[in-house]
Amino acid sequence: MDANATTPLLPEVMEAMRPYWMEQFGNASSIHQQGQTARTAVDRARETLAEFFNCREAEVVFNSGGTEGDNTAIFGLLRPGDHFITTSVEHSAVLRAAERVAERGVEVTFVAPRRNGLVSDGLIDPEEIRRAMRPQTRLISVMLANNETGVLQPVEEIGRIAAAAGIFFHIDAVQGAGKVPFDVRRFGCHLLSMSAHKIHGPKGVGAMYVRRGTPLEPLLVGGSHERRQRAGTENVAGIVGLGKAVELAMTSLEDGTVERIAALRNRLEAGILAVPGTGVNGAGAPRTANTTNIRFEQVEGEALVIALDLKGVAVSGGSACHSGSTEPSHVLMAMGLDKSAARASLRFSLLRTATDADVDHGLRVVPAAVEHLRALSPVVAGTAG
Ligand code: PLP
Repeated sequence: MDANATTPLLPEVMEAMRPYWMEQFGNASSIHQQGQTARTAVDRARETLAEFFNCREAEVVFNSGGTEGDNTAIFGLLRPGDHFITTSVEHSAVLRAAERVAERGVEVTFVAPRRNGLVSDGLIDPEEIRRAMRPQTRLISVMLANNETGVLQPVEEIGRIAAAAGIFFHIDAVQGAGKVPFDVRRFGCHLLSMSAHKIHGPKGVGAMYVRRGTPLEPLLVGGSHERRQRAGTENVAGIVGLGKAVELAMTSLEDGTVERIAALRNRLEAGILAVPGTGVNGAGAPRTANTTNIRFEQVEGEALVIALDLKGVAVSGGSACHSGSTEPSHVLMAMGLDKSAARASLRFSLLRTATDADVDHGLRVVPAAVEHLRALSPVVAGTAG
């Protein structure tokens, strides 16, 4: 139940990739037959990505994944003196890049999620983005779906605001890709980043949509790969795997899979909420079908992660990149949770292959583990912060 950290390859993806490590190992830049076979495979994946994004094939750039896409958007567009708007609930791939450009003379505004009551539902108010705009604003970057809560941001509205002001707009779509209908023209973005390993594809490969004419400086220079937008010998097998994973994700958006996963998530969520002293972070906001983030009063989140792991249920507190750190989630803190409530919150995120039996197992294990931990240390509440 930690699909937002990563997902396993689907067998079809593995099968599609296999020949490109073995018999068809050519370099896609070589002019001989092996090279051309590899080139054809990369081109085919590019067609799939263009269909997925709803863009031209020339607007697809293959890269190493979400972190690279986020970094490329920020380092590739912003120069000293520019102003950059992003949000305080972004992934660290955006936040750390924003901090770095800030050290180099870029002004950065982090817009917080709206407060509708004491605690936020995690949604960014597009009007707050508009209010943050300045004459020097060059780039806005907002995620499509939050990795910790699944909350879906109003990117279309933000895209319209950016377009009206002539500001570049980047979407970190790593957690939204394959989970909600997708269209870069409808989103109104100039740049969009996604990653294969969140949609049952391989790790270390992803793609970026770069709207024609966007003056994006490449992060990596060298050979003339990817129309000089991303140097480096193409990860042919990875790109083929990404193409196959995207193809399967597109099918899953139309064949009832999303509804099936939503029903499983809703059953899991309702079952856990039957435990006293629990609540959903981001409840009320539109969310991806597979994710729920739940706070458990009087429980230390890390202890619960370990207790569930021992029972065969993998979940995470905060995002995987922060595991091992005792810092509470920056996303939940930005939503107004106090430190102990943030530390007592866990993310459950279902694979596309999740079954009723998985949810049954989760519901056997979670309430019992919570009860056990509360019995062990009934005074944890309020002391963790
Ligand atoms: N952005 C978001 C919202 C993510 O969830 C992740 C991965 O956790 C990333 C970016 C980074 O993607 P990658 O693991 O492909 O570098």
